[in-house]
Amino acid sequence: MNPPDTTAAPTRPRLSPLKAVRGMNDVLPDEAALWQRFEDAARRVLAMYGYRNLRVPIVEPTALFVRGIGEHTDVVEKEMYTFEDRLNGESLTLRPEATAGIVRAAIEHNLTYDRPQRVWTAGPMFRHERPQKGRYRQFHQIDVEALGFDGPDVDAEQIALLARLWRELGVADSVRLHVNSIGDRHDRLAHRAALVAYFRAHESTLDEDSRRRLAVNPLRILDSKNPAMQSMIEGAPRLVDAIRDESLAHFEEVKRLLDDAGIGYRVDPRLVRGLDYYNRTVFEWVTDRLGAQGTVAGGGRYDDLFEQLGGKRDFACGFAIGVERMILLLADAGVHAADAPLAYVVHDAKDPAVAREAARIATRIAERLRDAGHAVVVNAGGGGFKSQMKRADASGARYALIVGEEEAKSGAVAIKPLREPGAQRAVPADDVGEALNVADR
Ligand code: ATP
Ligand code: MG
Repeated sequence: MNPPDTTAAPTRPRLSPLKAVRGMNDVLPDEAALWQRFEDAARRVLAMYGYRNLRVPIVEPTALFVRGIGEHTDVVEKEMYTFEDRLNGESLTLRPEATAGIVRAAIEHNLTYDRPQRVWTAGPMFRHERPQKGRYRQFHQIDVEALGFDGPDVDAEQIALLARLWRELGVADSVRLHVNSIGDRHDRLAHRAALVAYFRAHESTLDEDSRRRLAVNPLRILDSKNPAMQSMIEGAPRLVDAIRDESLAHFEEVKRLLDDAGIGYRVDPRLVRGLDYYNRTVFEWVTDRLGAQGTVAGGGRYDDLFEQLGGKRDFACGFAIGVERMILLLADAGVHAADAPLAYVVHDAKDPAVAREAARIATRIAERLRDAGHAVVVNAGGGGFKSQMKRADASGARYALIVGEEEAKSGAVAIKPLREPGAQRAVPADDVGEALNVADR
């Protein structure tokens, strides 16, 4: 009998591959280039207006969102990812939005103690919604907050910031601005009776959620996306007609500042937003290029949230951009982004010693070009010239730099333009930078 073969690998049953959680997406490198272009533009514009980065945890105590967003909202009633901390049983939630966390941090660290603060954060948010185009369970926002400002100047400034971002990105013609004022808390309380009376008169049109909210949060009904209720909602008494002089003056000033800045808008008396913390100014930027999920950014003022979260009363205004929807819009508008390197270095030779020399030259010229700030990819993992040239092309590089047998022997490099017509030409390896005429770009 033969001795057992100890070199053979033990056979393992093939496992079925795991998939990402439904509604939570991978962003693959081809797509990520556009994400980065968007994020770079956003960061640049935010810096232009004096906004500084602030980073808060993705997990917060559940109570923060219940108190901040409001108990009778879609987000808190059915969309939160909530779990118990295994150690102490504390109820924790994956953040469905960032404002509550930022205000929590501002209170905790006394951020607005001696001066107001303009801050922004970016990252994933989590809501258990029905996944569809433009609506996911993990999605991303850029979240921008002006803390400690009573406006209306910052309200208008934030809208102008967004208008500038749309211009920078080349999508200014694809988005429209809707604004409204939902007054202050007492305005809404005063309006409530009229609203409830109206909805009661149309109770047969109300869906189950709305019927339940009639008693606890009638304003929420105005934010319903149920198509069967839209015309009834259209006829509801308008909050903007009921708000008091102070809120009204604030709103008039926001509008005047927008007019001054040449920013077009539509006053939309039905605009209320989905979270309870807003007051006075609310706004949304919408597009009709993405179907039902048309709101790409939304926000407003929230002067009660500090107090609601146990802090000292303070003023604030903020907004969030939905990054996935922005990416869809940018792609739809034909905006491209590439993260292609300047050059891809191809190297090979039949003779192993010459091939080693070719590889050495390849690495040297790549490092030189990187010293000058350029992105250069050196072929790795071997492959013949033909397959290396294919990879060079697929990398999107402007040039292939070729170090073959002849070049290796003479210390030269052949430059081949990949994106424009032009003949291949050889230069001494040390002159590649200059030859590409980019050495001191
Ligand atoms: P919608 O009315 O579309 O449900 P919302 O009022 O719930 O949006 P906000 O909480 O104001 O949205 O969030 C700001 C932005 O974040 C939205 O305008 C949208 O662009 C984006 N957003 C919200 N929820 C999602 C989601 N589930 N998937 C992708 N993007 C989202
Ligand atoms: Mg929503």
